[in-house]
Amino acid sequence: MVEYPNLFIGGEWVAPRDGGLLESIDPATGKPWASVAFGGPADIDRAVEAARKAFGSWSRKPGHERAALLRRFADLYEKTAPDLARLETRDNGRAFRESRADVGSHVTGYHWYASLADKFSGRTIPIDDQVHAFTTRRPIGVVGAITPWNVPLMAALWKLGPALATGCTVVLKPAEQTPVTSLELGKLFAQAGFPPGVVNIVPGWGKGGAGERLAAHPDVNKVAFTGEGATAKAILRTGGDTLKRFTFELGGKAPHIIFADANLDQALNAATGSAWALCGQSCALGSRVLVQRPIYQRVVDEFVRRSARVRVGAPLLETTHMGPQAHAEQLAKTLDYVAIGKRDGAELVAGGKRLTEGELACGYFIAPTVFANVSNQMRVAREEIFGPVAALIPFDDEDEALAIANDSHYGLTAGLWTQDVGRALRVSSRIEAGMIWVNTYRYIRWSTPYGGVKASGWGRENGVESLDAYLDTHTTIISKTGQFADPFAN
Ligand code: NAD
Repeated sequence: MVEYPNLFIGGEWVAPRDGGLLESIDPATGKPWASVAFGGPADIDRAVEAARKAFGSWSRKPGHERAALLRRFADLYEKTAPDLARLETRDNGRAFRESRADVGSHVTGYHWYASLADKFSGRTIPIDDQVHAFTTRRPIGVVGAITPWNVPLMAALWKLGPALATGCTVVLKPAEQTPVTSLELGKLFAQAGFPPGVVNIVPGWGKGGAGERLAAHPDVNKVAFTGEGATAKAILRTGGDTLKRFTFELGGKAPHIIFADANLDQALNAATGSAWALCGQSCALGSRVLVQRPIYQRVVDEFVRRSARVRVGAPLLETTHMGPQAHAEQLAKTLDYVAIGKRDGAELVAGGKRLTEGELACGYFIAPTVFANVSNQMRVAREEIFGPVAALIPFDDEDEALAIANDSHYGLTAGLWTQDVGRALRVSSRIEAGMIWVNTYRYIRWSTPYGGVKASGWGRENGVESLDAYLDTHTTIISKTGQFADPFAN
């Protein structure tokens, strides 16, 4: 067992005041592998107090000095990235080859945010000869960052990067299932020389615990949340009273559209890759694969053939493509949806069952699953399963593809494959999604804004736009004459 007995608050490692220790389960074995400090509301209160205390001098620090600290942190992150990736895989079961690529890429993410720390500014607004008007942009204050279990380090980066670059201070609350790597970040922030209280890390429960207190806390100016829509609504209810700001990165049910003129081999690489990436636990999952009828059966056959090639197994092995579901509830949820799909009349053509042979016996493994002849009205096409389940939906023409794609309350990501440039432009301009890929998929960079429309979220992470959510604009108007007419003179 690995032990993490303390929370990271005010630059120190402290025991929880009203929390305790909780075991983190290795989803590959179903057994505890780490014992982790869990904070409660009183711990959040002192973390927020530490963040508030640090805010004054941190927010006034010149941008290039914040940038230098972020760069030092990024360099330390780079050195420890393989270890972080291994820990993340232990905690959430994502295949190590995926974790390593993901975590390794975060280094450039932190450097990119560092490069923005002295690049944001206000503007001068021409009005008339009487006044000089200008705006300044100031950090919003203390940020409560609440993250999910599927990508703990990535979700932390997407919040810490813009928050620290703009001069905000942060209380980070990772998901209860995967707290370990977020605590590891505390070590790196301390080593990099960040002032105490600029970043505080408090694992804990969501509802009724640390998460709820962070959302409700009157001295938190903004909550940056990634997770489920239902949780976002709960956060709005508890935090709404304080009129703090919110950004929400929520779920998706992405349409991944393959037209008959597509480069089919490439489209299949992307469609199968994105259906089963992260053991199917990605918000960007291309979970609804829309296929034009002339090539529909070929795509179904290829999905089945390729599903048999996916090596499901111990996630730390180099050879493993897909690890287990991250926790027991997610495994149960995915299996429930397999039953729902069958009951609703979808045709199960691959997978659909828990894998328990040999060393997989106690873990939360499930085979890559494919449903064919799915209609968009079925629950497996409408609800976010968050497991490795692809729903293959046939369509006839462009209009029908668009109608199906947009008939969803989600609108996070979408993909389309065609060699017709006109069609690529027509369809991509009408898809209701925050991120649209053409002839590629899950291509995500720090410089490109990411986020949802409709029920998939509020605001954007990544891109220079991400800074907006951490800054307030202040307008100053100065008279050039100093004259102010007496309104009651006559
Ligand atoms: P979740 O909503 O269950 O939990 C997310 C976080 O919220 C956890 O830290 C949890 O402890 C906390 N929480 C739970 N209840 C709370 C409450 N009442 N008040 C405050 N905090 C609370 O989500 P999850 O199951 O961890 O993650 C999966 C979801 O995240 C999926 O819907 C997925 O699509 C989404 N997601 C979205 C993105 C994106 O960028 N759009 C990225 C990753 C994951």
